[in-house]
Amino acid sequence: KKYVYQFGAGKADGDRTMRELLGGKGANLAEMSRTGLPVPPGMTITTETCDQYYKNNQKWPEGLKEQIREGIRFQEEQLGAGFGDPENPLLLSVRSGAAASMPGMMDTVLNLGMNDMVAEGLAERTGNEWFAFDSYRRFIDMFSDVVMGIPHESFESAMQKLKDQRGVKEDNELTAKDLRDLVDRFKAIYRRETGFMFPNDPMEQLEFSINAVFGSWNSERAKKYRKINKITGLIGTAVNIQAMVFGNMGETSGSGVLFTRDPNTGENKLYGEYLTNAQGEDVVAGTRTPEPIKNLKKALPKVYDQLEEMTRKLEKAYQNMQDIEFTIQEEKLFILQTRNGKRTGPAAIKIAVDFVKEGIVNKQEAVKNLVTTAQLDQLLHPQFDDKAIKDKKVIGVGLPASPGAAVGKVYFTSHDAEDAKITGENVILARVETSPDDVGGMHASEGIITSRGGMTSHAAVVARGWGKPCVVGCDDIVINYKNKSLTDGNHTVYEGDWLSINGTTGEVVLGQLPLKPPKLSNDFKKFMKWVDEFRDMKVRTNADRAEDATKAKEFGAEGIGLCRTEHMFFEGERIVEVRRMIMSDNEKERRESLARLLPYQKEDFLGLFKALDGDPVTIRLLDPPLHEFLPHTEDEKKDLAKQFGISYRKVKDRVAALDEANPMLGHRGCRLGITFPEITEMQTRAILEAAIEAKEQGAVVLPEIMVPLIGSGDELIDQKNVIKETAEKVFKDKGTRIDYLIGTMIEVPRAALVADEIAPHADFFSFGTNDLTQMTFGFSRDDIGKFLPDYLERKIVLHDPFQTLDQKGVGKLVAEAADLGRATKPGLKLGICGEHGGDPESIAFCYKQGLDYVSCSPFRVPIARLAAAQEAI
Ligand code: ADP
Ligand code: MG
Ligand code: MG
Repeated sequence: KKYVYQFGAGKADGDRTMRELLGGKGANLAEMSRTGLPVPPGMTITTETCDQYYKNNQKWPEGLKEQIREGIRFQEEQLGAGFGDPENPLLLSVRSGAAASMPGMMDTVLNLGMNDMVAEGLAERTGNEWFAFDSYRRFIDMFSDVVMGIPHESFESAMQKLKDQRGVKEDNELTAKDLRDLVDRFKAIYRRETGFMFPNDPMEQLEFSINAVFGSWNSERAKKYRKINKITGLIGTAVNIQAMVFGNMGETSGSGVLFTRDPNTGENKLYGEYLTNAQGEDVVAGTRTPEPIKNLKKALPKVYDQLEEMTRKLEKAYQNMQDIEFTIQEEKLFILQTRNGKRTGPAAIKIAVDFVKEGIVNKQEAVKNLVTTAQLDQLLHPQFDDKAIKDKKVIGVGLPASPGAAVGKVYFTSHDAEDAKITGENVILARVETSPDDVGGMHASEGIITSRGGMTSHAAVVARGWGKPCVVGCDDIVINYKNKSLTDGNHTVYEGDWLSINGTTGEVVLGQLPLKPPKLSNDFKKFMKWVDEFRDMKVRTNADRAEDATKAKEFGAEGIGLCRTEHMFFEGERIVEVRRMIMSDNEKERRESLARLLPYQKEDFLGLFKALDGDPVTIRLLDPPLHEFLPHTEDEKKDLAKQFGISYRKVKDRVAALDEANPMLGHRGCRLGITFPEITEMQTRAILEAAIEAKEQGAVVLPEIMVPLIGSGDELIDQKNVIKETAEKVFKDKGTRIDYLIGTMIEVPRAALVADEIAPHADFFSFGTNDLTQMTFGFSRDDIGKFLPDYLERKIVLHDPFQTLDQKGVGKLVAEAADLGRATKPGLKLGICGEHGGDPESIAFCYKQGLDYVSCSPFRVPIARLAAAQEAI
């Protein structure tokens, strides 16, 4: 069995399609090697090997060791060096890499193969004693930390002590002799902590390191990262063992990281940082402050040009913006890693549009691959309303690491942030710097601020990936973990105080700043036009008011999929008439109240029809139980009695009479219209009179009347008769006719099961997946919070079923109803109007079921459009 895949010398056993087996890093190293890019030779131990290792009681499978030795022989040949040979030593890096990118989750060991003899040999051969012992001390530090779990700080502080003794500030001001000294001190720490001598044998070092990488796959922080990012179904990590190249060989050497375009704005320029005379870990670790990549242009212009050329090649090969790690060894450039770069929403749009312009991808590829629905979501998030801010107190300005505005209460530990989030607070996480242990708290926060670190620090990279506003390296403020506060010297902010951060400008501001909706760029509009070229499922919106509908139309909505009429009942004067109607104990009084409500309803519908001009408007008849409209406190009940000139006792009795044990399963939906047909009559009249008026005013109207909570054909027939009779009266009164549709929600499981009995009487079905989920699971939407966290934790459900449609159960009902409905009535129009209509995964499902449209809240309309297009491509 093949456990090991080699790469190097312009060839490779693997390629970039083999992520599952070789991990992202391994697959890309193989690909780059094939493409002829300068990659040091190496080998990748497969993810299957990691899986077998765990299944096999943490032992290596038969044959693995021999294949590794073979891989080392290949590298030795390539470099003319020998593993453990002091004359001309081959040193190795041992790197983890799973199929999904998990930044910083698993650890790397560099300079492996070092021992006293090898270090002396390397010093002699290169004539660079400093370099040899710098590499040696790094190896002991990393091996101890990664493999033996000795905290890195022990070595850090030993180094600091030595620097203090020598009176120097930077690591590379230490002399070669100092570094020899440091190696001895490090070995002593190792002996003290483990009780063993530091291992001399390179092969032993390698075995230990490989096992440590396997082990890191199941570390707590790796598991947590996978959970938060919903990474499931991976079998393990691959291990990359690669010949070292050295960035710490002097002033013409160095290491860096870069994005091929600006990951915040998408601007077409190299964006990154590097350090001279350093190994790559230093750039990420933040021990020395890196320089911006543009300085390399002056320092080593040839290398810079080569880097630029290489990035173009990579973008073409991968058809995506790349995130690259590189090392320069004595003016020679090596690429050590490439992957698709994380970026913000605005950057994703700009890069997609530019890539098409530059001919790197076509429109279809851009829509399918270069912008995710989550990135689009970011563009639709609010920003600070600068005009509404009078005197904002800026207490610090840091690096704008991830754009957008965030307001929340500040917390100082990941744990506190997570706890605060659970109680429903908006949280800002403040840390000196973040590490992978903080991802839980970062995820729970609206925004993140750190007082240390650069644009590629952990906080910056993770926040950008999630689209959370983030300010890093804000050294104007001092964070004090002990008393949980931060200060700029003048103002002190304590745990739980409000703070606002602007990830676009880097500002940190006291208090709660007001927010405003975002402004959409021309690139956004262009991109969304392409999206619509590849989309064939319609997207409508859920809106009750003309202004929301207008907003949604701007976002590209092609109609209203759900107008909830009861929302209008609460506004202003109307609630009085609604209550009067409910209080009346005979039909005559009820009709009088309804007659007074009619003009209000009509006015609302008129606004909607005019706003939607040419697009369909689905209006749902009254749905909630009447109880919801009545007052609940004694004082309010007394006021109501006075207002209507009736006795308090009567009010109390009426409220009590309407009280239900299970209102959501009670007297609501079509059941109201069946008991009180006059309500259905009034609403039908309001809808159709408004439609006629809008038409007379020049609008094209397509009214669709929707009956909620149908569970049988006969229920629909009953309501349909009321609607049709009323319609005929309206047409007669007005002396004109218009076309309209009558349809039903499918939201009671029984309706889905007998859809063939309902379809003959319906012009359309609209899946009300909120109620359908509630009734299929028997989970009350309002009470699920009590047990859902346990269900998610124990994987009894994988998602909140009210957010992402449960395809197995609820989805089966949707599919069944769609099939039965269409079989009975070919061409029956099908849509969905539950919250799921704005969830990309659920939208993909709807597309597969052949639904005609999804309907979602206005701000999710662009997301639904993109999700539908990506599914269609
Ligand atoms: P991560 O997944 O955390 O980015 P990597 O495996 O990419 O870890 O290693 C981190 C850094 O170690 C790299 O960016 C690079 O600078 C350095 N490194 C890895 N392999 C080599 C190598 N063969 N030669 C020199 N430096 C290396
Ligand atoms: Mg890396
Ligand atoms: Mg419903």
